[in-house]
Amino acid sequence: MQCFANKIAVVTGGGRGIGQEIARMLAAGGAKVAVVSRSEASCGKVAEDINAVYPSAATAYAVDVADHAAVLELAKKIGEELGPVNILVNNAGVTRDGLLMRMKEDDWDTVLDTNLKGAFNTVKAFMRVLMKAEDPRIINIASVIGLIGNAGQTNYSASKAGLIGFTKAVARELAGRAVTCNAVAPGFITTDMTDELPQTIKDAVIGKIPLGSFGETRDIAEVVAFLASPAARYITGQVIAVDGGMTM
Ligand code: NDP
Repeated sequence: MQCFANKIAVVTGGGRGIGQEIARMLAAGGAKVAVVSRSEASCGKVAEDINAVYPSAATAYAVDVADHAAVLELAKKIGEELGPVNILVNNAGVTRDGLLMRMKEDDWDTVLDTNLKGAFNTVKAFMRVLMKAEDPRIINIASVIGLIGNAGQTNYSASKAGLIGFTKAVARELAGRAVTCNAVAPGFITTDMTDELPQTIKDAVIGKIPLGSFGETRDIAEVVAFLASPAARYITGQVIAVDGGMTM
């Protein structure tokens, strides 16, 4: 499936987990992909692995998405090095879990700055280019926790609920320029983020998933690839839960 031939994609948080899988799938479809993560080591390794299979498809950029000026600089650099971007995937995200009673201000700020302001920063930085692009797409990786909340994750729930509101408002603002903006809300997916959970919590979560297991990174990447494809041109402002039926 070469439906991303001649397309330029940016995937934030592409250094591991879900973002890595999204970057690989877009590259498999023929896109040139900017793999963005905090550390040079993780995005560099992912780009190297992708290029070993799809030569010259991936370029690594180590940037903190919470840093507004750095993201503006990133957009300039990607424009010069890869060309005008068609697909922006806001996937970078962090957790700093804890009950609200004990949550530190820094835990709140770090999560909101990365998960929500990070998307504001990238959309601001790439929107002018997207508005002139062919099949322009913005895809935000939210979470079912942004839909249903979770004790111990007030910061994360607020960031993801905010990202869903942001998605719908951006979809309305940019619809006139044919830029679609959608959110994917994963349930529990096997990655470093969920590996941190104690086994007792994992067992309790699985009990609430009708399909009976955690999802795989590929389950999310497949939906992102569809939303990024020309086939999804008439879908905007939507939140697609990919959660094994958890929130039905
Ligand atoms: P991981 O923790 O496995 O990977 C997160 C990636 O985001 C890493 O590459 C990391 O960079 C990057 N990142 C984190 N902060 C920043 C930042 N400030 N600037 C740039 N890059 C950053 O996460 P997952 O793959 O599990 O999650 C990906 C997305 O999916 C997140 O938004 C998460 O909230 C969401 N999600 C995940 C679920 C799950 O069950 N796993 C469920 C629901 C939503 P580095 O490699 O350099 O550390």
